[in-house]
Amino acid sequence: MNRIYLDNAATMPLNEQVYKKMLSVFESYGNPSSVYQTGREARKLLDKSREHVAKAIGALPSEIYFTSGGTEADNWAIIGAALEKGSGHIITSSIEHHAVLHTCAQLEKMGFEVSYLPVDSSGLVSLEDITNALKEDTFLISVMYANNEIGTIQPISEIAKKAQEKGILFHCDAVQAVGHLPLDVKALGVDMLSLSAHKFGGPKGVGALYIKKGTKIANLINGGAQERGRRAGTENVAGIVGLAEALRIANDGIEQKALETAKKREYLTDRLFGLIPNIKINGNLESRLPGVINITFKGVSSQALLIRLDRCGVAASAGSACTSGSLEPSHVLKAIGLSEEDAKNSIRLSLSNNISEEELYEAANIIASQVQEMRGVSGVK
Ligand SMILES: *Cc1c(COP(=O)(O)O)cnc(C)c1O
Repeated sequence: MNRIYLDNAATMPLNEQVYKKMLSVFESYGNPSSVYQTGREARKLLDKSREHVAKAIGALPSEIYFTSGGTEADNWAIIGAALEKGSGHIITSSIEHHAVLHTCAQLEKMGFEVSYLPVDSSGLVSLEDITNALKEDTFLISVMYANNEIGTIQPISEIAKKAQEKGILFHCDAVQAVGHLPLDVKALGVDMLSLSAHKFGGPKGVGALYIKKGTKIANLINGGAQERGRRAGTENVAGIVGLAEALRIANDGIEQKALETAKKREYLTDRLFGLIPNIKINGNLESRLPGVINITFKGVSSQALLIRLDRCGVAASAGSACTSGSLEPSHVLKAIGLSEEDAKNSIRLSLSNNISEEELYEAANIIASQVQEMRGVSGVK
């Protein structure tokens, strides 16, 4: 069966070139902290990777800290800022990834105060709500660049400016944006920014936190002096090399690729609208990730639809991969005002820029026929 992968926001297939480069790194076993030849080789690979990643997002190499992924980067930024302060107030949005939300919930248990900003029906945070939420002791604002379920892109540079005016740290979970949209940390004005390799064709289990020079946050992982004494643990050298290589490839012609992907997204959307009545796109149509479509099929349970699609060779998901299997409707879809019913009848299709029009044509046909079959059974047309 021809498999069609429409879940790139959950993870992307490892780029072939990245894989080959990583293999060569696995062959040299050096520990970057060792002073002899093999160690020095590994150190060199690390340094080079750090330079690549820094350049790709407009940072200095000394501002890049490698982590075990996007989740750790988010945890470090938020817990690190909180531990540094000791007490106080954090502002975040109600549609963040669980790596941010559950971290904030843990801090609440420890006595910190957290405001979870509402979003409008398209998933946008408002600057006014941020201003209104500010308190005397607010020390951190954390808002994601682009939402992983509906793709909505937030006004990050404006939020960063507001935070800067007030002397508050600003962290941005840019895991869905890096490698998909051109992005420059200096132009954005963020203090911290999270990224993850497997969301742009790199390996799983490796990411990075950008920490602007001079930003004071406590360490999260303690031990050796790796990452300039701020993130301990022998480095995942092959993973880091893979991250840097994947980002280099993803960033090559990124604006063009984003345009192409958006075009494919529109093609698929148009096909679905042409074939299936009673459907609705969720998210902000003007400000959205190029590859993400979140769509409600009235009267069609997403869990059952996804199983049917899988049987037909189409891989997609309901919102985030992390919550699939749970019966709770997505917190993101609830936050943008969908009824529980509609939230449970919505799926996410996420494209990469190298999917073909033929695949999208076929995927639309499969989705349409499955939706129609299910509606026939449930009586909804
Ligand atoms: C995937 C994702 C994460 C988690 O990254 P991992 O590397 O999988 O830990 C965090 N935030 C967002 C927005 C994501 O999409």
